[in-house]
Amino acid sequence: MTKLKNKYSIQRRYVTNKNARPRIKNLGVDFLVAHETANNNADADAHYNYFQGITFSASAHTFIDDNKILEIIPLDEKAWHVRYDVPRDNRMYGDDANDVAIGTELCRTGDFDKAYDRYVWYHAYLCKKFGLNPKKDIVAHSKLDPSRRTDPQSWLEPNGVSWNKFINDVNDYYRNWGSDGSQAIKPSNPSKPSKGYRKTATDHVGMRLENIYHTNVNYYNSPRWDNPTGTFKPGHGWTITGKYIVDGSYQYQVKNSKGHTYYVTAHDKYVKVIRGKSAASSKPKPKSFKPGQKVTVKKSASTFATGESIADFVKGNSYTVKQVKSDRVLLGGIMSWVRKSDVY
Ligand SMILES: [Zn+2]
Repeated sequence: MTKLKNKYSIQRRYVTNKNARPRIKNLGVDFLVAHETANNNADADAHYNYFQGITFSASAHTFIDDNKILEIIPLDEKAWHVRYDVPRDNRMYGDDANDVAIGTELCRTGDFDKAYDRYVWYHAYLCKKFGLNPKKDIVAHSKLDPSRRTDPQSWLEPNGVSWNKFINDVNDYYRNWGSDGSQAIKPSNPSKPSKGYRKTATDHVGMRLENIYHTNVNYYNSPRWDNPTGTFKPGHGWTITGKYIVDGSYQYQVKNSKGHTYYVTAHDKYVKVIRGKSAASSKPKPKSFKPGQKVTVKKSASTFATGESIADFVKGNSYTVKQVKSDRVLLGGIMSWVRKSDVY
């Protein structure tokens, strides 16, 4: 049985172009920056050739495709993979990425799952090699340079892999490093997202998104509109983590109480952003009804609390609450008991 740590071999073929590789020693390795190349047509070797020929300063240490892990800059030398004038690497790790971090690029060519597995494995390898914590010491290029960069999420997410999943996958390899590789992770998520989507700005991150529609609203495990992953009920909420334009319409990226990421319509007919309030849980708020209050019978309601079916003309109509019991309200006008879950 192959142990995980022996699953792949690393090829080392160093560029000699001074623009890519100035041969300056780094100051050690304090963290890792995850990148993707954003180039649909170039594998690891093609990037070697590219950096061997460039006439400006740019590079990364390692390029990974579906059959190769290729280091083109020695890991004890600097590479130019993050702008020096971004402040966040200094704030997070106390130094500039180019001076104290290894930059690894995921190539887009070939089989994503194979390339991704190597990319995960290599990050675990670097954590072992440099004594780093996969949960804290790996950062996305997009986090360091958010105004200009979206990688590596720009290639992970279209392939169904969230940043959190990537970190968890690296951590799994890291924890099982010396054990049998047969329990290797599978880059899961068979649902491929729609091609036509992109991330967009929102100032609603951290706020609660609530279903205000009279019936269930779909959610998806990637930015798309078909094949919903599930539905959430009226009154249920999520915490907003981002916003996307998917085939021309907005979706919020949200997180539930378990930390799972989903995508939900942003249309104000169905959902509402509750300002200043985050959804710690996705449980519905307890509904309290009082006599005298006006409520509307949901279109999705089918039977009264007493079992008889609800006539269509009642659905969508508003009535005054006459009495309240634990699970039902008595509505004036029709003088019938309706479940609390069937009115809003
Ligand atoms: Zn990058």
